Amino acid sequence: MPNLVHWLRLHADRLDESNELAESVLPALAADQLLAAGVPTEYGGSGGDVRDAIEAIAKVAELSLTTAFVFWGQRCFIEFMLQSPNRALAERRLPALLAGTQAGASGLSNAMKFLSGIEQLQITAARDGDGLLADGALAWVTNLRKAGFVAAAAVAPHDGAPPMVVAFDSQLAGVQRNADLDLIALRGSNTASVKLTQVRIAAGDIISDNAPAWLPQVRPAFLGMQCGMSIGLARASLAQAARISQGSQGRHNALSPRIAALKETLEIAAATLLAGVHDGRFVKQAPAMFRLRIQLAELVQQALMLELQAMGGRAYLTTQQQGFGRRWRESAFIPIITPSLTQLQSALQQFDSQQALKQGAQA
Ligand SMILES: Cc1cc2nc3c(=O)[nH]c(=O)nc-3n(C[C@H](O)[C@H](O)[C@H](O)COP(=O)(O)OP(=O)(O)OC[C@H]3O[C@@H](n4cnc5c(N)ncnc54)[C@H](O)[C@@H]3O)c2cc1C
Repeated sequence: MPNLVHWLRLHADRLDESNELAESVLPALAADQLLAAGVPTEYGGSGGDVRDAIEAIAKVAELSLTTAFVFWGQRCFIEFMLQSPNRALAERRLPALLAGTQAGASGLSNAMKFLSGIEQLQITAARDGDGLLADGALAWVTNLRKAGFVAAAAVAPHDGAPPMVVAFDSQLAGVQRNADLDLIALRGSNTASVKLTQVRIAAGDIISDNAPAWLPQVRPAFLGMQCGMSIGLARASLAQAARISQGSQGRHNALSPRIAALKETLEIAAATLLAGVHDGRFVKQAPAMFRLRIQLAELVQQALMLELQAMGGRAYLTTQQQGFGRRWRESAFIPIITPSLTQLQSALQQFDSQQALKQGAQA
């Protein structure tokens, strides 16, 4: 990704602080073939599997979390296409998504919360022939390019059939993308709310007609790619901490063993994540993946602390902080991405009490 690295070194702060470059992010990712990472060659990708996408997102996150999150949104939508039983939809949509000429967004926070019993679905639909007529809203969606987008969302049919996951285009009548949200960071991510009023969704745009069965299948990729952001951000912070610590002629060397130990823990967690996503164990063992996501979020916070302590007062000087201020703001996003740490902790509590009940019944 030579061109992207150069572009992000120049613009990472601007991408975080303003939306001036928001429309350029997706073309920049596509220009370096990153959107094709981990996509089978028969679909126009560069081969490999979702592990390659996780690593690619991590590499981008080392330089700009805004760009990594846009990448995550686009790559998630691509993953939904790869895993959709609706093969005609995937074949129709994948070429433009991979080329970056079509923005794809994942509006599935609400669905993931619904799956954990935290929230009702925010979009409902009546039947409309073999399609749907949808109403509702999504409070937060990233990669809603002003030039146009397609977004994935879960929809609850009025007739009591299982919730579905659908794709809807920005140009459909009744889709209203609101102004960019006024964020404290990640401002170049094209993040906004979107409202749906009587939107006709064709049968051909139904990604899955059984969200409760389909979502757990895609969750490891969804969460794994999200963890790529934590891995990249923590790596960047630790690299900076190590550079400063080694260059400080003994003054901060007390930090070096802690930096090295955290780096090792991070790489073990990253390897465990990649192995679990690859062998499919997280489809059945969601709690193991939830624990890894929590661990990685904690590692990000610890890495930032070490970077801050290695830099000392320089971290507070605009001209000397070398990206620390941006990483500090970016890191605030990690615990609240769906599933947020609060959501994961409550899901784990539920799981642990169910296990305790089962063990009690067997005893
Ligand atoms: C910059 C940005 C971009 C985003 N982009 C996307 C995107 O592309 N797609 C997408 O789908 N989402 C996106 N989101 C949404 C994101 O994933 C949310 O932050 C997430 O949904 C967390 O939800 P929450 O605010 O309810 O926080 P939570 O962590 O769920 O909750 C916050 C607090 O409310 C409490 N709480 C939560 N639910 C309840 C309840 N039912 N009753 C009582 N208390 C409760 C919790 O205990 C906690 O204390 C984005 C968010 C941000 C900030």
